[in-house]
Amino acid sequence: MKDEQRHHIETDLMHGGAEVPGNADRALSPALHMSSTFTFDSIEHAEQVMSFESQDYVYTRGNNPTLRLFEQRMTTLEQGSASIAFASGMAAISSTLLAAAGPKGTVIIHKTLYGSSYTLATTLLPKYGITCITADFTDLAALEQLLAAHPQSVLYFESPCNPDLTILDITKISEAAHRYGSLSIIDNTFASPFLQNPLALGADVTLHSATKYICGHGDALGGVATTRDPELAELIKFGYMCELGGVMSPFNAWLMLRGLKTLHVRMERHCTNAAAAAQLLNSHPKVEQVYYPGLETHPGHALAKEQMRGFGGVISFEVRGGLQAARRCINAFSLAQIAVSLGDCETLVQLPAAMTHRGYDHERLKEFGLTESMIRISVGIEHSDEILGDITRALETI
Ligand code: PLP
Repeated sequence: MKDEQRHHIETDLMHGGAEVPGNADRALSPALHMSSTFTFDSIEHAEQVMSFESQDYVYTRGNNPTLRLFEQRMTTLEQGSASIAFASGMAAISSTLLAAAGPKGTVIIHKTLYGSSYTLATTLLPKYGITCITADFTDLAALEQLLAAHPQSVLYFESPCNPDLTILDITKISEAAHRYGSLSIIDNTFASPFLQNPLALGADVTLHSATKYICGHGDALGGVATTRDPELAELIKFGYMCELGGVMSPFNAWLMLRGLKTLHVRMERHCTNAAAAAQLLNSHPKVEQVYYPGLETHPGHALAKEQMRGFGGVISFEVRGGLQAARRCINAFSLAQIAVSLGDCETLVQLPAAMTHRGYDHERLKEFGLTESMIRISVGIEHSDEILGDITRALETI
């Protein structure tokens, strides 16, 4: 589809990204190229392709038509200039942070991150000479001071944050980063490209665990990084991803392309179901606190309204009675499954401190306000009556 014909993200989810040649059969569904390697007419042709004089394919770890179409579609959706598809969200995050920070660089992270991202930044990267500093990105004045002391660093954060749904100001954080020659890198998994486009708000790289809303069906792992900086894209892809080897499989790219076709309708239903669940939780006598940016009482509500097109499908909450009550409540869900992950069609519930955020030690959890009893629910797209009924019955057991 030509650029000037394209207007809405709903259409780009199916048609965005240039056509990849090779659809001689005119199939509606994109071709799945399950080939590890590609053949050449001659050694001259091989040399031409290997030196990037031609866009033909060499080897799937470097490129593949199905992967290329997924990358091009994500580039359109995230309003970037290039994307790199990875085997998982963590493969995308680790290669991107290594590339952006460089040897002996500095990464400044917001205090609440997905558990493995936190462990990667605070435990693994320092083993390879990268300094990691943890900060509170809601305090922009303190962040500015930190940047002044550590220019040319990398800011890494999520918004909404996993698991406490804090909303961070992408524009102001990115502006501050750029004043000190630093990069702003955001994990956009919770919002999906349908609800938020961080590059348009000033971020340098937007990342996804495509395993979540992009795939949407809980049947494939994937990750993707998108940027407007061609040199950074080249470095992430050919300097890190290709050498570390965490490429997405063509079959998963095909599943991601299929998932993207319905992202808008799924996200709309996730958002309306989550809004109803958040209202129910917020007015329930057994619930102490609800974290959902769609609630007017949420401290990030106004900011979320500005930088997002909806509030997403994830809610965290605290029940009265602490950990024992929380455990009883989780065990009492029957429609919602106890599982890590999020963004699937099915409603999933979990206890972050015991499951996805085990990488945080007890002291850090307390310091960062992530209690051991916080429950996270990824609201699915089942009928809202059944979801609300399940929540009500689970709360009644406390
Ligand atoms: N980022 C966020 C916000 C996540 O919730 C997750 C996984 O739960 C990841 C990244 C990691 O993604 P993956 O499991 O695809 O490696």
